[in-house]
This record gives sequence, C-alpha cells and structure tokens, in this order.
Amino acid sequence: MKYYDKLIFELSKPGRIGFSLPRPADRQQLPFGNTATLGTLRGGTASEAQRWGPKDVSEGQAAAGSKVCSKVWREAPLDLPEVSEVDVVRHYTNLSQMNFGVDTGFYPLGSCTMKYNPKINEEIAGIPGFAGLHPLQPNETVKGAFEVLVGMDKALAAITGMKHFTFLPCAGAHGELTGLMLMREYHMSRGDTARTKVIVPDSAHGTNPASAAVCGLDIVVVKSKEDGLVDVEALKGLLGPDIAGIMLTNPNTLGLFERDIKQIAELVHGCGGLLYYDGANMNPLLGMVRPGDMGFDIMHLNLHKTFSTPHGGGGPGAGPVGVSDKVLPFLHIPRVSGFHGNFGIILRAYAYILMLGREHIKLAGKFATLSANYIKESLKDCYKLPIPSVCKHEFVFDGLLDDNGVTTLDVAKRLLDYGFHAPTIYFPLLFHQAIMIEPTETESLETLDAFIAVMRKIAEEAKTDPELLHGAPHNTPIGRPDETTAARQPVLKYE
Ligand SMILES: *Cc1c(COP(=O)(O)O)cnc(C)c1O
Repeated sequence: MKYYDKLIFELSKPGRIGFSLPRPADRQQLPFGNTATLGTLRGGTASEAQRWGPKDVSEGQAAAGSKVCSKVWREAPLDLPEVSEVDVVRHYTNLSQMNFGVDTGFYPLGSCTMKYNPKINEEIAGIPGFAGLHPLQPNETVKGAFEVLVGMDKALAAITGMKHFTFLPCAGAHGELTGLMLMREYHMSRGDTARTKVIVPDSAHGTNPASAAVCGLDIVVVKSKEDGLVDVEALKGLLGPDIAGIMLTNPNTLGLFERDIKQIAELVHGCGGLLYYDGANMNPLLGMVRPGDMGFDIMHLNLHKTFSTPHGGGGPGAGPVGVSDKVLPFLHIPRVSGFHGNFGIILRAYAYILMLGREHIKLAGKFATLSANYIKESLKDCYKLPIPSVCKHEFVFDGLLDDNGVTTLDVAKRLLDYGFHAPTIYFPLLFHQAIMIEPTETESLETLDAFIAVMRKIAEEAKTDPELLHGAPHNTPIGRPDETTAARQPVLKYE
C-alpha cells in the first residue's frame, strides 16, 4: 500500500490545519439574528470547527428563536480529520486516480454507449448564464434557456420522426415510466380499460419490464428466435384486446436491427396496441432511420448515452420522451417551462447535435457499427459468437471458445489489469457467459487493436495459466471483492 492510499482520517494529526484565514471581529452578528460561533464559518482553526457541539447549536438556536429537538443535538464534537492542505490535495488527487472513466481509458460497456464526451459540451454548459439558472427566475430572464429546449425539441423530432418531446425525465428508466403512463392515458381516454399488459422481448433491458411493473402493467414476454430477432409468429399469439402495447429496442440488446419492424408495427396497431421505442441505444441509427417512420408512437432517448453527455455511477442523465400525433394530446403542458429535468445535460446534448449537424451525425452511427463489427470479426476465433450476423453498435460473445474453466467474470477482471474497463457481462440473460461489447465511434483504430490484442492474450492465458485469471485483477487498488456483499452491504464509513 502506498502512503497516500491511507484514509484521510489516518493522516490526521491533532491541531494540523489546512488553512489560516485572518480572524474577523469576534462573535459577529449575522443579519438573521444568529450569532456566528462556528469555526468553519469564519475560517478559524480545525479545533474551533470541531466545537460545533450542543453548546453552540443551542446558543445559536436560542438566538434565532427556534426550537430544535434535543435528540438531534450532537453529543460530542465532530470527529473531523485534521490535515494540512497538501495532505488534502494528495488524498483527493489519489482518490480521483483510482477512478476509471471515458477520459482515462477505453470503456466498451455494452448497452451503455460510453462514448467520449467532447469538452465543447462542457464549455457551453459552463457559460454563466446557463450554469447559474434557477427554475424560479422570471421567464423574461431565461429566454435563452427556453430557446435551447425548443431547439432541442426540433432537433430530436427531426432525428426520430416524433412530433414533440418532453424533457422532464432524468434517466432512461424515468422516460420509460413516463412513456408507459402516456400509453395508459391514451387507452383510458378511449375507455379502453382492459389493456393492462405490455409485451417485452426476452432480450430487453431490465428496466423495460421494471418500468411496466411500476406503471401497474402486467408483463408478457415474447421470445427471440435463433437469429436473435423477435419471433413474429410467437408475437401473433400474444396479441389481443388486453394488450396496451409493446416495448422494443431497435437495434435490440444483441445489437441487431429488428428487420420485421414494419410487420410488428402493423400487428400491434392492428390489435389496438401502441409501440414504445426504447431509444437508449439510438446511436447506430442517428440520421439514418427514424423510429417515427418505423411506426412507433412513444419513445425515449438517453441523452447520456447517444448524445455524449457524461454518465456512469448512476447519473446524471436525461431521458426525453417523444410522441407521435396520436399521443401528443396527453403530453404535459407547458412543454417548455422553468422546471425542466436535467437542463445541463440537455444543453450538452444540444451542443453535440449542433456541432455534428445533419450530415456528420450519420458518421457517429456508421463508425460505431464499423468498430463493433471490426472487434467481433477479429476475436471470433477465440470467443464464442452465438449470433454471427452483421451487428450494429454492439454484439455479444458467449465466453471463451476454449475456456479451460475460465469464466466471463475472469476475463472481465483480467481486462482491468491491462487498463481497460470491462465490457458488460452476464447480460443479456439469453447467454450464460455473455460478454457484451460496445466500442462506440470515438475510439481510434489503434485503441481497438490494442483491446483486441489484450483479449487475444487473455484467451492465451486461459489455456496456459487459468489460475492467473481466476485470481485477477492483480494490479488494481482493490482485488476481487465479494460482489454481492459489496453491493448489498457496502462499508462506506470510517469507523
Ligand atoms: C441504459 C438503458 C436503459 C436505462 O437507462 P437509464 O438512464 O440507466 O435509466 C434502458 N434501455 C436500454 C436499452 C439501455 O441501454
């Protein structure tokens, strides 16, 4: 362990401080009648900051004339680490370097589209007039922000073939729920109350059935065929007056374009249902094909995937929902107002769309598709490729061809040793050893070749030294935690 891998509490020495500001006049009267006694407020010493105990709180509260239940008073001074400025800087800099992101390396996480986030997006989002916006500002002071929302609505309508979008949802799953509620509203408004079921393919992203369940709808699973596409014959057997609609991802989670989409749309509409398009993975279709033209009625986009805004670790995101003419009357109004989801993310995505423009945005999908097929073809003699057809932006291997007891988890962990983020593993559930690779369009040929070389090396290691892989990773700050315990009972607090 390196010295600075220590916790900041372990670096602490009583009395050591990271700042020394001049002392203002003692016990300054604050405008709201409280008395400033907090060392932190006036830049005093660390031990003064720790004095924020019951005494100070009660004094302050008494002065402010309010009552605070004594149960919530701190009984002992706050145990803050006492460290110098350089300790703080090194501690956080070292922590940041234990992190992995698209700015540090290749991140082929299937279904997540971890494309590079161009820094121009960040510059635009940092313009003070945007960065300092408040939802309660008077309308006439936020015209520019409204213009962004209106412009984005037009851009997304042009890209998707939908009529209009709402920007309220803050994630893909949030968009799904919003879209399904619109679907339910559509049927209800027609007095069609028996439509309580939603069809979801077995290859769907887990959020699809989850959102349907949260919306109070029952889920009916439609199988995929051998070739990974929706089984249209099986679908016919599921359609009826109880079907609210179908949720489809196209290209689907295996990276395959659902070629029968026109027929699927006719069948679902024919039985009175609606088509929901999960556009989280719209990347390969940008500027080429539009869900609106395929017959979809409602859709969401993940701006934090397809449109290059930062994500990972659960946020931030934006999942705008678009609708066709049919569903438009149910979209909330006003479509443009002060409270509008993750505005900074919408703005970044708008910058990205304007930067590329109508013609160049097509290249994103083309290069993403080329990169995925290039990796697939370069590795299929080492890794099991269950569906050999041409893919779109991503594809799935089913473990090593010659596994020698080495699992997908071992391969994923070993990749970390070589400085690459692991692909998505054990998803989709159709294959037991799934490795789902999405390189995106923003990687150079050299990076793709380096990844291919490492994947081949790991396949070699599996043959010659499987133990090495079972124990991987060997070069990371944390080895192989018990994943369930780490997720269910994480220890996040210093004791
Ligand atoms: C990522 C993803 C989602 C969910 O998006 P979140 O923003 O994580 O809620 C839904 N569907 C597909 C196909 C996805 O890849």
